[in-house]
Amino acid sequence: KDRGGNCLQVYDRVLGACRTRHNQLLADLPIALERDQFDLHFQPIIDLRDNSVSKAEALMRWHHPEFGPVGPDEFIPIAEENGYICELGEWVFDSVMRILPEWVALFGPNFQVGINKSPLQFLSDETMPTRWAQRLQQAGLDGRNLVVEITENSLMGRADIVTQKMALIAEAGMQVAIDDFGTGYSSLSYLNRFPVDYLKIDRAFVRDLTRDSRDFVLCEAMVAMAHKLNMRVVAEGVETAEQRSLLAGIGCDYGQGYLYSPPLGRREFLAFMYTSCPLRAFATA
Ligand code: C2E
Ligand code: MG
Ligand code: MG
Ligand code: MG
Repeated sequence: KDRGGNCLQVYDRVLGACRTRHNQLLADLPIALERDQFDLHFQPIIDLRDNSVSKAEALMRWHHPEFGPVGPDEFIPIAEENGYICELGEWVFDSVMRILPEWVALFGPNFQVGINKSPLQFLSDETMPTRWAQRLQQAGLDGRNLVVEITENSLMGRADIVTQKMALIAEAGMQVAIDDFGTGYSSLSYLNRFPVDYLKIDRAFVRDLTRDSRDFVLCEAMVAMAHKLNMRVVAEGVETAEQRSLLAGIGCDYGQGYLYSPPLGRREFLAFMYTSCPLRAFATA
Protein backbone atom coordinates (compact mmCIF):
# COMPACT_ATOMS: atom_id res chain seq x y z
CA LYS A 1 0.00 0.00 0.00
CA ASP A 2 2.89 2.32 0.77
CA ARG A 3 4.00 1.86 -2.82
CA GLY A 4 0.76 3.08 -4.26
CA GLY A 5 -1.22 -0.14 -4.05
CA ASN A 6 -0.72 -1.11 -7.68
CA CYS A 7 2.07 -3.63 -7.24
CA LEU A 8 2.37 -6.99 -5.60
CA GLN A 9 5.31 -7.81 -3.36
CA VAL A 10 5.97 -11.26 -2.06
CA TYR A 11 8.24 -11.84 0.84
CA ASP A 12 9.09 -15.45 1.33
CA ARG A 13 10.06 -15.97 4.94
CA VAL A 14 11.57 -19.38 4.30
CA LEU A 15 13.64 -18.15 1.38
CA GLY A 16 14.74 -15.18 3.46
CA ALA A 17 15.89 -17.42 6.27
CA CYS A 18 17.82 -19.61 3.81
CA ARG A 19 19.63 -16.61 2.36
CA THR A 20 20.70 -15.48 5.80
CA ARG A 21 21.91 -18.93 6.79
CA HIS A 22 23.77 -19.32 3.51
CA ASN A 23 25.41 -15.91 3.84
CA GLN A 24 26.33 -16.50 7.41
CA LEU A 25 27.90 -19.89 6.63
CA LEU A 26 29.76 -18.23 3.77
CA ALA A 27 31.12 -15.62 6.16
CA ASP A 28 31.88 -18.04 9.01
CA LEU A 29 33.71 -20.66 7.00
CA PRO A 30 37.09 -18.88 6.87
CA ILE A 31 37.30 -18.66 10.68
CA ALA A 32 35.88 -22.12 11.35
CA LEU A 33 39.22 -23.86 10.76
CA GLU A 34 41.22 -21.72 13.18
CA ARG A 35 38.44 -22.05 15.75
CA ASP A 36 38.69 -25.80 15.46
CA GLN A 37 35.04 -26.33 14.52
CA PHE A 38 35.66 -29.14 12.06
CA ASP A 39 35.82 -32.77 12.82
CA LEU A 40 36.56 -35.84 10.73
CA HIS A 41 34.43 -38.95 11.02
CA PHE A 42 35.13 -42.37 9.59
CA GLN A 43 32.61 -44.83 8.22
CA PRO A 44 33.65 -48.49 8.05
CA ILE A 45 33.43 -50.25 4.68
CA ILE A 46 32.63 -53.93 5.05
CA ASP A 47 33.76 -56.84 2.88
CA LEU A 48 30.52 -58.62 2.00
CA ARG A 49 32.18 -62.03 1.70
CA ASP A 50 33.57 -62.29 5.22
CA ASN A 51 32.39 -59.18 7.11
CA SER A 52 35.95 -58.00 7.57
CA VAL A 53 36.72 -54.28 7.62
CA SER A 54 39.73 -53.13 5.65
CA LYS A 55 38.53 -49.70 4.58
CA ALA A 56 36.95 -46.54 5.88
CA GLU A 57 35.70 -43.33 4.32
CA ALA A 58 36.65 -39.98 5.89
CA LEU A 59 33.68 -37.60 6.14
CA MET A 60 33.80 -33.98 7.31
CA ARG A 61 31.63 -32.50 10.05
CA TRP A 62 31.18 -28.85 11.01
CA HIS A 63 30.03 -27.94 14.50
CA HIS A 64 28.70 -24.45 13.98
CA PRO A 65 28.47 -22.40 17.22
CA GLU A 66 25.01 -21.13 16.32
CA PHE A 67 23.45 -23.67 13.94
CA GLY A 68 24.86 -26.80 15.53
CA PRO A 69 25.95 -29.58 13.19
CA VAL A 70 26.12 -28.54 9.53
CA GLY A 71 26.54 -31.34 6.99
CA PRO A 72 29.08 -31.42 4.16
CA ASP A 73 26.33 -31.49 1.54
CA GLU A 74 25.57 -27.95 2.72
CA PHE A 75 29.02 -26.49 3.44
CA ILE A 76 31.17 -28.07 0.72
CA PRO A 77 29.34 -26.15 -2.07
CA ILE A 78 29.74 -22.99 0.03
CA ALA A 79 33.47 -23.65 0.43
CA GLU A 80 33.69 -24.03 -3.34
CA GLU A 81 31.95 -20.71 -3.71
CA ASN A 82 34.38 -18.74 -1.56
CA GLY A 83 37.45 -20.66 -2.63
CA TYR A 84 37.98 -22.09 0.82
CA ILE A 85 37.67 -25.64 -0.46
CA CYS A 86 41.46 -25.97 -0.94
CA GLU A 87 42.19 -25.28 2.73
CA LEU A 88 39.45 -27.70 3.80
CA GLY A 89 40.84 -30.35 1.48
CA GLU A 90 44.31 -30.02 2.97
CA TRP A 91 42.90 -30.08 6.48
CA VAL A 92 41.16 -33.38 5.68
CA PHE A 93 44.34 -34.85 4.22
CA ASP A 94 46.44 -33.67 7.21
CA SER A 95 43.90 -35.14 9.63
CA VAL A 96 43.92 -38.47 7.80
CA MET A 97 47.73 -38.51 7.80
CA ARG A 98 47.72 -38.15 11.58
CA ILE A 99 45.88 -41.44 12.08
CA LEU A 100 46.70 -43.51 9.02
CA PRO A 101 50.15 -44.81 10.08
CA GLU A 102 48.67 -46.09 13.35
CA TRP A 103 45.68 -47.69 11.66
CA VAL A 104 47.81 -49.39 9.02
CA ALA A 105 50.01 -50.76 11.81
CA LEU A 106 46.92 -52.01 13.68
CA PHE A 107 44.76 -53.28 10.84
CA GLY A 108 47.33 -54.40 8.32
CA PRO A 109 49.19 -53.08 5.27
CA ASN A 110 46.10 -53.29 3.05
CA PHE A 111 44.04 -50.91 5.17
CA GLN A 112 42.63 -48.02 3.11
CA VAL A 113 41.07 -44.67 3.89
CA GLY A 114 39.00 -42.86 1.27
CA ILE A 115 39.09 -39.07 0.96
CA ASN A 116 36.46 -37.14 -1.00
CA LYS A 117 37.67 -34.59 -3.51
CA SER A 118 35.10 -32.15 -4.90
CA PRO A 119 35.08 -31.82 -8.71
CA LEU A 120 36.34 -28.25 -8.57
CA GLN A 121 39.14 -29.21 -6.21
CA PHE A 122 40.09 -32.26 -8.25
CA LEU A 123 40.37 -30.31 -11.50
CA SER A 124 42.07 -27.16 -10.19
CA ASP A 125 44.53 -28.61 -7.69
CA GLU A 126 47.47 -29.30 -9.97
CA THR A 127 50.04 -30.57 -7.50
CA MET A 128 47.78 -32.76 -5.37
CA PRO A 129 48.90 -36.17 -6.68
CA THR A 130 52.63 -35.55 -6.22
CA ARG A 131 52.17 -33.67 -2.93
CA TRP A 132 50.06 -36.40 -1.38
CA ALA A 133 52.28 -39.17 -2.72
CA GLN A 134 55.31 -37.55 -1.09
CA ARG A 135 53.56 -37.21 2.24
CA LEU A 136 52.47 -40.85 2.17
CA GLN A 137 56.01 -41.92 1.38
CA GLN A 138 57.48 -39.76 4.16
CA ALA A 139 55.06 -41.38 6.61
CA GLY A 140 56.26 -44.81 5.53
CA LEU A 141 52.92 -45.60 3.92
CA ASP A 142 52.05 -47.21 0.64
CA GLY A 143 50.21 -45.16 -2.00
CA ARG A 144 47.43 -47.70 -1.97
CA ASN A 145 46.56 -46.90 1.66
CA LEU A 146 44.77 -43.88 0.22
CA VAL A 147 41.72 -43.86 -2.05
CA VAL A 148 40.71 -40.64 -3.77
CA GLU A 149 36.91 -40.50 -4.12
CA ILE A 150 35.64 -38.37 -6.97
CA THR A 151 32.23 -38.09 -8.60
CA GLU A 152 31.60 -38.64 -12.30
CA ASN A 153 31.17 -34.91 -12.73
CA SER A 154 34.86 -34.43 -11.87
CA LEU A 155 35.72 -36.14 -15.13
CA MET A 156 33.86 -33.70 -17.35
CA GLY A 157 36.61 -31.12 -17.35
CA ARG A 158 39.32 -30.98 -19.98
CA ALA A 159 40.22 -34.53 -20.88
CA ASP A 160 43.95 -33.80 -21.03
CA ILE A 161 44.00 -32.41 -17.47
CA VAL A 162 41.95 -35.31 -16.12
CA THR A 163 44.13 -37.86 -17.91
CA GLN A 164 47.32 -36.33 -16.54
CA LYS A 165 45.96 -36.17 -13.00
CA MET A 166 44.71 -39.75 -13.08
CA ALA A 167 48.08 -40.94 -14.41
CA LEU A 168 49.91 -39.21 -11.54
CA ILE A 169 47.56 -40.69 -8.96
CA ALA A 170 48.05 -44.17 -10.39
CA GLU A 171 51.81 -43.69 -10.66
CA ALA A 172 51.94 -42.89 -6.95
CA GLY A 173 50.03 -46.11 -6.31
CA MET A 174 47.02 -44.29 -4.88
CA GLN A 175 43.63 -45.62 -5.84
CA VAL A 176 40.59 -43.96 -7.36
CA ALA A 177 36.93 -44.53 -6.55
CA ILE A 178 34.05 -43.16 -8.61
CA ASP A 179 31.60 -41.93 -5.97
CA ASP A 180 27.79 -41.79 -6.32
CA PHE A 181 28.15 -43.94 -9.43
CA GLY A 182 25.13 -43.87 -11.74
CA THR A 183 23.94 -40.38 -10.84
CA GLY A 184 26.45 -38.11 -12.61
CA TYR A 185 26.47 -36.41 -15.95
CA SER A 186 29.21 -38.20 -17.75
CA SER A 187 29.68 -40.88 -20.35
CA LEU A 188 30.82 -44.37 -19.43
CA SER A 189 33.78 -44.01 -21.75
CA TYR A 190 35.98 -42.77 -18.89
CA LEU A 191 35.84 -46.21 -17.35
CA ASN A 192 38.30 -47.62 -19.86
CA ARG A 193 40.29 -44.42 -20.29
CA PHE A 194 41.17 -43.84 -16.66
CA PRO A 195 42.60 -46.14 -14.00
CA VAL A 196 39.53 -46.59 -11.80
CA ASP A 197 39.78 -49.06 -8.90
CA TYR A 198 36.35 -48.82 -7.25
CA LEU A 199 32.82 -48.00 -8.27
CA LYS A 200 30.64 -46.81 -5.42
CA ILE A 201 27.01 -47.47 -6.32
CA ASP A 202 24.94 -44.50 -5.19
CA ARG A 203 22.55 -45.16 -2.36
CA ALA A 204 19.62 -44.14 -4.58
CA PHE A 205 19.94 -47.57 -6.27
CA VAL A 206 20.36 -49.41 -2.98
CA ARG A 207 17.42 -47.80 -1.22
CA ASP A 208 14.63 -49.62 -3.07
CA LEU A 209 16.65 -52.66 -4.01
CA THR A 210 14.37 -55.07 -2.19
CA ARG A 211 11.14 -53.56 -3.59
CA ASP A 212 12.06 -52.36 -7.06
CA SER A 213 13.20 -55.08 -9.46
CA ARG A 214 14.56 -52.44 -11.83
CA ASP A 215 16.96 -51.15 -9.20
CA PHE A 216 18.01 -54.74 -8.59
CA VAL A 217 18.73 -55.26 -12.29
CA LEU A 218 20.71 -52.01 -12.42
CA CYS A 219 22.84 -53.00 -9.42
CA GLU A 220 23.42 -56.43 -10.92
CA ALA A 221 24.53 -54.85 -14.22
CA MET A 222 26.81 -52.32 -12.50
CA VAL A 223 28.56 -55.09 -10.56
CA ALA A 224 28.96 -57.29 -13.66
CA MET A 225 30.33 -54.40 -15.71
CA ALA A 226 32.75 -53.31 -12.99
CA HIS A 227 34.10 -56.81 -12.52
CA LYS A 228 34.64 -57.27 -16.24
CA LEU A 229 36.64 -54.03 -16.21
CA ASN A 230 38.62 -55.31 -13.24
CA MET A 231 37.13 -52.90 -10.70
CA ARG A 232 35.70 -53.60 -7.26
CA VAL A 233 32.26 -52.39 -6.19
CA VAL A 234 31.15 -50.67 -2.99
CA ALA A 235 27.39 -50.29 -2.32
CA GLU A 236 26.54 -47.10 -0.42
CA GLY A 237 23.65 -46.65 2.01
CA VAL A 238 23.19 -50.28 3.03
CA GLU A 239 20.59 -50.02 5.78
CA THR A 240 18.93 -53.44 5.99
CA ALA A 241 19.96 -57.08 6.13
CA GLU A 242 17.79 -57.74 3.05
CA GLN A 243 19.73 -55.19 1.02
CA ARG A 244 22.96 -56.71 2.27
CA SER A 245 22.06 -60.24 1.22
CA LEU A 246 20.80 -59.19 -2.23
CA LEU A 247 24.02 -57.26 -2.79
CA ALA A 248 26.16 -60.14 -1.61
CA GLY A 249 24.13 -62.43 -3.89
CA ILE A 250 24.98 -60.45 -7.02
CA GLY A 251 28.67 -60.43 -6.10
CA CYS A 252 28.97 -56.87 -4.83
CA ASP A 253 32.34 -56.70 -3.03
CA TYR A 254 31.80 -54.14 -0.26
CA GLY A 255 28.99 -52.47 1.66
CA GLN A 256 28.85 -49.22 3.59
CA GLY A 257 25.87 -47.96 5.55
CA TYR A 258 23.92 -47.63 8.77
CA LEU A 259 23.33 -51.40 8.89
CA TYR A 260 26.97 -51.69 9.89
CA SER A 261 27.77 -48.31 11.33
CA PRO A 262 27.23 -44.57 10.88
CA PRO A 263 30.36 -42.43 10.41
CA LEU A 264 32.28 -42.50 13.71
CA GLY A 265 34.78 -40.33 15.55
CA ARG A 266 38.36 -41.64 15.73
CA ARG A 267 37.96 -43.33 19.11
CA GLU A 268 34.56 -44.80 18.26
CA PHE A 269 35.97 -46.13 15.03
CA LEU A 270 38.72 -47.94 16.93
CA ALA A 271 36.14 -49.31 19.37
CA PHE A 272 34.04 -50.51 16.42
CA MET A 273 37.04 -52.31 14.96
CA TYR A 274 37.77 -54.06 18.24
CA THR A 275 34.25 -55.02 19.25
CA SER A 276 32.13 -55.55 16.13
CA CYS A 277 34.57 -57.28 13.87
CA PRO A 278 35.56 -60.88 13.70
CA LEU A 279 39.24 -61.38 14.43
CA ARG A 280 39.98 -62.03 10.77
CA ALA A 281 39.24 -58.33 10.21
CA PHE A 282 42.80 -57.70 11.23
CA ALA A 283 45.13 -58.84 8.53
CA THR A 284 48.36 -60.05 10.03
CA ALA A 285 51.11 -57.79 8.83
P1 C2E B 1 29.49 -39.41 -0.08
O1 C2E B 1 30.95 -39.34 -0.34
O2 C2E B 1 28.67 -40.16 -1.07
O3 C2E B 1 29.35 -39.99 1.37
C1 C2E B 1 28.34 -40.86 1.78
C2 C2E B 1 27.26 -40.12 2.52
O4 C2E B 1 26.21 -41.04 2.84
C3 C2E B 1 27.70 -39.56 3.87
O5 C2E B 1 26.96 -38.38 4.09
C4 C2E B 1 27.28 -40.63 4.84
O6 C2E B 1 27.12 -40.18 6.15
C5 C2E B 1 25.96 -41.05 4.23
N1 C2E B 1 25.56 -42.40 4.60
C6 C2E B 1 26.34 -43.43 4.92
N2 C2E B 1 25.63 -44.56 5.16
C7 C2E B 1 24.33 -44.22 4.97
C8 C2E B 1 23.10 -44.95 5.07
O7 C2E B 1 23.05 -46.16 5.38
N3 C2E B 1 21.95 -44.28 4.80
C9 C2E B 1 21.96 -42.96 4.45
N4 C2E B 1 20.79 -42.38 4.20
N5 C2E B 1 23.11 -42.24 4.35
C10 C2E B 1 24.27 -42.86 4.62
P2 C2E B 1 27.65 -37.06 4.64
O8 C2E B 1 28.68 -37.40 5.65
O9 C2E B 1 26.57 -36.11 5.00
O10 C2E B 1 28.42 -36.52 3.37
C11 C2E B 1 27.71 -36.09 2.25
C12 C2E B 1 28.63 -35.81 1.10
O11 C2E B 1 29.48 -34.71 1.37
C13 C2E B 1 29.56 -36.97 0.80
O12 C2E B 1 28.88 -37.93 0.02
C14 C2E B 1 30.66 -36.26 0.03
O13 C2E B 1 30.32 -36.10 -1.32
C15 C2E B 1 30.69 -34.90 0.69
N6 C2E B 1 31.85 -34.82 1.62
C16 C2E B 1 31.95 -35.33 2.88
N7 C2E B 1 33.18 -35.09 3.39
C17 C2E B 1 33.87 -34.42 2.42
C18 C2E B 1 35.20 -33.90 2.33
O14 C2E B 1 36.04 -34.00 3.23
N8 C2E B 1 35.54 -33.26 1.15
C19 C2E B 1 34.66 -33.15 0.10
N9 C2E B 1 35.09 -32.52 -1.01
N10 C2E B 1 33.42 -33.62 0.17
C20 C2E B 1 33.02 -34.26 1.31
MG1 MG C 1 32.46 -40.47 -0.81
MG1 MG D 1 28.50 -41.40 -2.37
MG1 MG E 1 27.01 -38.00 -2.01
